[in-house]
Order: sequence, then C-alpha cells, then structure tokens
Amino acid sequence: MPLKKLLDAALNLIFPINCLGCGSEGTYVCDRCLKELPWLRPPCCSHCAATQSATPCRWCRHRPLALDGIAAAFLLEGAIREAVLQLKYHQVRGLAPVLAGLMEQAWQAKGLPADLVLPVPLHPRRLRHRGYNQSALLSRALGRGLGLPYDESALVRTRDTSPQVGLSRDKRVLNVQDSFIGKEAVSGKAVLVVDDVATTCSTLSACADALRKSGATTVWGLVLAREAPPPAQGHDGTRPFRRTRRGQQATRFGDTSG
Ligand SMILES: [Zn+2]
Ligand SMILES: [Zn+2]
Repeated sequence: MPLKKLLDAALNLIFPINCLGCGSEGTYVCDRCLKELPWLRPPCCSHCAATQSATPCRWCRHRPLALDGIAAAFLLEGAIREAVLQLKYHQVRGLAPVLAGLMEQAWQAKGLPADLVLPVPLHPRRLRHRGYNQSALLSRALGRGLGLPYDESALVRTRDTSPQVGLSRDKRVLNVQDSFIGKEAVSGKAVLVVDDVATTCSTLSACADALRKSGATTVWGLVLAREAPPPAQGHDGTRPFRRTRRGQQATRFGDTSG
C-alpha cells in the first residue's frame, strides 16, 4: 500500500471521516450523496442569487448591492447545512478543500473575471477567539484550485460586532456598514470575495463597498451556500424597508456573517 494511502487509513482510524449526508465512513461526501447535493438552480436573482426570484429581485431593486453580483454553489440545506456547521463550529478544517472544490465548479460555470481571491475577514479579536476563519480556509483552497493569487490581508475588518441573527434585512445592512477597509493591493484588480453563507448579502456588499473605494475594478462574491433571506420585517419589529436611524443601530448590533 502506498505511504499516502496507509497514512490516510491510519488517520481515518484516529479521526474517522463520515459522509455528511448518510454518515457512511471514509469520505466527507460519498458518491451517492454527491449526486443529491442541493445545487443552486435557476430561477434566481442574477445579482444576489436569491432563489425562486425574478431579476433583479425585490430586495435588489430596493437596495442594490455594491457587488457586481453573487454566485452561490448550493442552497443551505441537508448535507451542505451540516458541512457549514462542521466547518464553522466543529473545527473540521479538512472539509474546506472538499467544499472549495465544489465552489470552484460553480464559479467556473459562471465564467466571470477574477484576478485576486480573498475571504470576508473576521475581526482580529474574533479570529483570536475562534482560532481560524472558515471563509479564509475556503478562499485559500479556492485560490489554489483556480490558480489565482490569494491575499488574506487585502481586506480588513475594522469593527467587531455581535451576530446578525434575528435582525431584519435593513438592520443587517446598517450593522456592517463601514466595517471594512480595502488595502492598496486591490487597486485595479477584479476581486473575488469568498464567504461560507450569504443570507441578506449585506456583509459581502459592505466588503465590496470598501474594495471599490480602494480601487477594485469589479467585485464578485462567491459563497458555498445561499440561505433564504429573512423577511423584510425582522424579529425586532422593523417594518419592511422603513428608514432607520443609523447611529442608533450601529451601536446596538453587530455582525459575523449575513
Ligand atoms: Zn453519503
Ligand atoms: Zn437580488
């Protein structure tokens, strides 16, 4: 048996790998489950990849994204939902190259421009707490797979805020506004920003805003999975598309994704 196979077999004994779909041993996604993954299919909004929607969708008409657009490989369902949880919260970093390979297929099918890949950054404090940025793992593997330069330091998160979960769309936008700064390295570049999940796309849009201010020519977002956005009216009682006072929201809530 070749050394690599022997090593893989030994590692599998110590840290068993199971299929995210059916639990069978030896691989993260078995051949049978691979065929049943929830690939994102049309119709969807060509700007934000919202499913079952016209182009542009209602939300993109109301508040256009700062991105050229978003490509998503999957819906956040089944084995992909499990993969996101394992990668983000259970330290299963070995998943990143597998998932990046699937994202690569979705990106190549689009045939869009990119000459620099980078992740949605975590704030340094959050990065120290979590130990790694799952989006950085994905984007690094993706850069390798696509043969594109990867620069994790070209976009910086300057504000550390609390999670977006439960907030309405409008409040999510306000949370992440002006939270990022693009570096000189993005000037004149077609940038591809990578994240694990997009819900309202407000974080990706805030990244794109910063990248454009620093001279990026185009900014596309690529996510592993698209989650159905929350209703315009959130748990916080915000009415659809109502204007809110910025200062008030920005200090009350934060973001990790979305
Ligand atoms: Zn399976
Ligand atoms: Zn849209």
